[in-house]
Amino acid sequence: VAVVLAVDVGGTKLAAAVVDGDARILSRARVPSPRGSDPETLYEALIACCAAALRGADSLPSDLDGVGVSCAGPMVWPAGEVSPLNMPAWRRFPLRQRLLREFEVEPVRIHNDAVGIAVGEHWQGAGVGTADLLGMTVSTGVGGGLILNGQLYHGISGNAGHIGHVVVEPDGPPCACGGIGCLEAVAAGPKTVARALAEGWQPDTTMDADGIGLAASAAAGNSIAIRNIERAGRAVGIAVASCASLLDLEMVAIDGGFSQSGPPFWDALRQAFAAHARLEFAAACQIVPGKLGADAPLLGAAAFILDADHYGWDTTTPPRPDSAS
Ligand SMILES: [Zn+2]
Repeated sequence: VAVVLAVDVGGTKLAAAVVDGDARILSRARVPSPRGSDPETLYEALIACCAAALRGADSLPSDLDGVGVSCAGPMVWPAGEVSPLNMPAWRRFPLRQRLLREFEVEPVRIHNDAVGIAVGEHWQGAGVGTADLLGMTVSTGVGGGLILNGQLYHGISGNAGHIGHVVVEPDGPPCACGGIGCLEAVAAGPKTVARALAEGWQPDTTMDADGIGLAASAAAGNSIAIRNIERAGRAVGIAVASCASLLDLEMVAIDGGFSQSGPPFWDALRQAFAAHARLEFAAACQIVPGKLGADAPLLGAAAFILDADHYGWDTTTPPRPDSAS
């Protein structure tokens, strides 16, 4: 029976799971991402997490048919040298080579975590059966991945799907990428919270000043919270309308904690989409919440190996000299 190790590397947590060929998660493990600047400390925490997942499924590395990884970007793809923005301990860290040596199994495939989410939703979630899907996450950051004609679409450097850097407000806030008015700069959870705080919003005494606290205030009728969540939702709707027109998408599936901010987010998103996607084919694109939650990047990572015909790729292609982004 085919089993794979699926790994999710993010700035706040590391997760691993053993997944079988029927997409069943046989075991899972999860630890907070270590803070600090030592690359080996971070690597050892990841390997301990993987070992716990293997133990939980009574699996040995020799049982594995491969290792799939969803990792925060940027990275050099397909080489799997990762430099996660929120994890300064790893800069051009050769994660793929290290995992190849660690587990002595092939293939090891590493892709952007938002790509993992899109693949997970296409393989087992909201997008099952669709031919042309944009899967995206609206959370601490905003990212996405594309399934076109039933196949994961990479782009020339593996960076296709970066919807977080589609411009939605040309005179808007500066973005961490160096641009102006990118979707991520407008709609990411922390950006939205910071804007609400600057306008005088304060969380309820039992809540934190984060996306969950902001959504709770909005649900209680706080106008600053509602207005700022609406701005984020509207920005997502504008970006998605452009993507639907460009790519003739069948569906957009949206995951991520901040996308769960309730009606102010979704109503504003749908209104903006309806206002901007005017051609019949674009307006017909379905926009739905993702179904897999935190399992999306793990199941996507598993699918990189288990359904390589649709979601896999050749890891031996030499990276282009400038493919870090
Ligand atoms: Zn940007």
